[in-house]
Amino acid sequence: MSSVDFGLLRKYTEIPQTAEQLLSKPEREISFNLTLKFSHDQLLQADSYLVIYNTARGPAKGGIRIAPDVTIDETRDLAERMVWKTALARIPFGGGKSGIALDPKRLSRFEKTAVIKEYVHMLALELRGGLYVPAPDMGTDQTDMAVIFGELHIPECVTGKPPRVGGLPGRKEATGRGVSHTVLLLLREVLKKQPRETTVAVQGFGNVGSHTALFLHEAGLKVAAVSDLTGGRYNARGLDVPTLFEHAHKHGSLEGAPGKKISNEELLAADVDVLCPCAREDQITADNAKDVRARAIVEGANGPTTPQGDAILNKRKLPVVPDILTNAGGVIASYVEWRQAKSGAITDIKETFATVEERIGVAFEEMLQKARESKCPLRTACQVSAAEELVQSLRDRDWI
Ligand code: NAD
Repeated sequence: MSSVDFGLLRKYTEIPQTAEQLLSKPEREISFNLTLKFSHDQLLQADSYLVIYNTARGPAKGGIRIAPDVTIDETRDLAERMVWKTALARIPFGGGKSGIALDPKRLSRFEKTAVIKEYVHMLALELRGGLYVPAPDMGTDQTDMAVIFGELHIPECVTGKPPRVGGLPGRKEATGRGVSHTVLLLLREVLKKQPRETTVAVQGFGNVGSHTALFLHEAGLKVAAVSDLTGGRYNARGLDVPTLFEHAHKHGSLEGAPGKKISNEELLAADVDVLCPCAREDQITADNAKDVRARAIVEGANGPTTPQGDAILNKRKLPVVPDILTNAGGVIASYVEWRQAKSGAITDIKETFATVEERIGVAFEEMLQKARESKCPLRTACQVSAAEELVQSLRDRDWI
């Protein structure tokens, strides 16, 4: 079952039944048992998945998630989001995702490398053939991508590699760069506020959240609250984000960082201009959407708002810039890395950020135009824009 409401989108654009049929189901799903022999009497086993959701517009692109609670349903949902995200950003990729149900914190670096090598072994055909092009997601990092490259020796078979090993300067920061750029566009085009008079709260202080907070701080906004699984920090006049960034990157979390503490619930209800949920899915729900005091939400994480939470925010007329636009910076940078790998070109960090901002800027304008024309929420406007691109691509391929 697709998470997209085609009935709703048909109110705004024409979607043939055949397109809905193709976009409602993944093209292919692979479930496999990743097994490693640790010793003569000990095996490590992990339920693992690859979902190739749709490749009409290019190879299936999407990260590898390693987390104890990974399921095929979650992997499919994330793969589908990639289809809509790549179409919205107009980059030549389809959507996919893979998952390994393991707790990455319980793996030594040595064990993790062995897991990744076995993952490559199990999916060698899809990876070698360029049908699925992975990248990091929760629980995987640049080193894991370098291990994949090392197993296959095909530069474009994986993105998110370290810059010295065929990676892209700025790829690590790209998602946060895109989230912060989206906030700046929202201030200019919708909220009509200057960065210096704007306060923001960022939930999640991992890759996406910490870079988002740092870029917003550098752009002159007051980052009033940040948080991670260990709790948060608050200062209405603006936190010292570089110090918190350094602390979190040195110690792995905000635990022990200076500043006034705030709980995650308090952060989601903080009195700020913009709330950026950048942690994980299902954070703004039917229970807490009424408590949100921010004037707008910019979704850095995938799926941070549940459909019930979204309905409440819509009723309250709060602008919500959806994940498929806001966090597309990562996959846009992945596209630049893939293009670099195929061509042998060298890219600098300025070009990476410029491409992220340009692609997000085009999608943002399109979203605003559609939302104003059709008087629909921003999420629906993004989905309509992506749907039109997907339908035309399916026609171009003679799939419908
Ligand atoms: P990460 O593992 O680096 O960071 C996640 C952060 O969220 C950590 O600081 C963690 O402590 C915090 N967190 C988790 N649960 C929380 C909770 N209940 N309350 C507060 N904080 C909590 O992951 P990431 O790469 O930053 O990804 C975050 C989200 O963004 C995910 O939804 C991911 O799918 C999405 N995303 C990531 C990228 C990327 O390039 N990394 C790209 C697109 C989308």
